[in-house]
Amino acid sequence: MPPIVTAEEVLKAFANIRMAPASGGRAVHKPLLILFWLGRLERGEPRMAAFADVEGQFKQLLAEFGSANSPNTRHYPFWYLGNDDEGRIWQLESAGGIALSTQGAVPGLTWFRERGVLAGFAPAVDGRLRADKLLRAALARQLLAQNFPETLHSDIATQTGLDIDQPAMGGAALSGRRRDPAFRERVLRAYEYRCCVCGFDLRIGNVSAGLEAAHIQWFTADGPDVETNGMAMCALHHKIFDLGAFTVEPVNLSIVFSQNLQLGDATRAHLLSYHGAGIIGPQSTAYAPDQHFLDWHAKEVFKAPGRD
Ligand SMILES: [Zn+2]
Repeated sequence: MPPIVTAEEVLKAFANIRMAPASGGRAVHKPLLILFWLGRLERGEPRMAAFADVEGQFKQLLAEFGSANSPNTRHYPFWYLGNDDEGRIWQLESAGGIALSTQGAVPGLTWFRERGVLAGFAPAVDGRLRADKLLRAALARQLLAQNFPETLHSDIATQTGLDIDQPAMGGAALSGRRRDPAFRERVLRAYEYRCCVCGFDLRIGNVSAGLEAAHIQWFTADGPDVETNGMAMCALHHKIFDLGAFTVEPVNLSIVFSQNLQLGDATRAHLLSYHGAGIIGPQSTAYAPDQHFLDWHAKEVFKAPGRD
């Protein structure tokens, strides 16, 4: 196959990367690794880097934006990305600079460390992205839009050192599912315009302020725009719900906070006072959160285990 040359080809190649496992699990490893690597280009770092030198930083990203288990499989995307687009996107090399095949099952963590495995974008992709700041920003926005809720975009960009506030590039818009513009309004109405955790219901004039419709199963992970997949939350609770700081039990709709939180006295008194309490439910049981979506959140987003 000819190498990737134009900006449009780069965006298309990354849009076609195999992301989600068939199980319906959340795919964060590959997009986070690519975003992490774009940040390296942003800082002018070399094309190839030793797995052992970068795994710590990447593990940290997975701990923050993945599920509780994500950091344990941090080596997976280094391997599997090598198979996308017939090897034109990503490469592995031995310590001696010999290209490594990424066919077959992923080896263990120690293999990557002991063999001194190096990883990086393929030369044509690296060159194209390195030379074009707008293209880097466009690719970062594309990956964020495809894989993460909007609440997390600026956090991920900051953590990876990316500048996503660049003018948009021309070219084909991504096709894909469209968000239902009425979702927010339907969910807020179902919850009578208040946060289902803390009851926050500020209005400025006649308009709700700081109140949002949270998807339980992320839209980017095929969560539908229906009331039973939504909960009204204030901006704070929405943000930390998407980060997995708490989840909602399917059986009794009670709020469970994660054990993986560090908080001072003021935050503890404020936040944990809702631990174990039921959500402020919707006005009709027809809008109650669906167990299937809550199970997804508990498995894919929540930073298990929960507090007693
Ligand atoms: Zn709230």
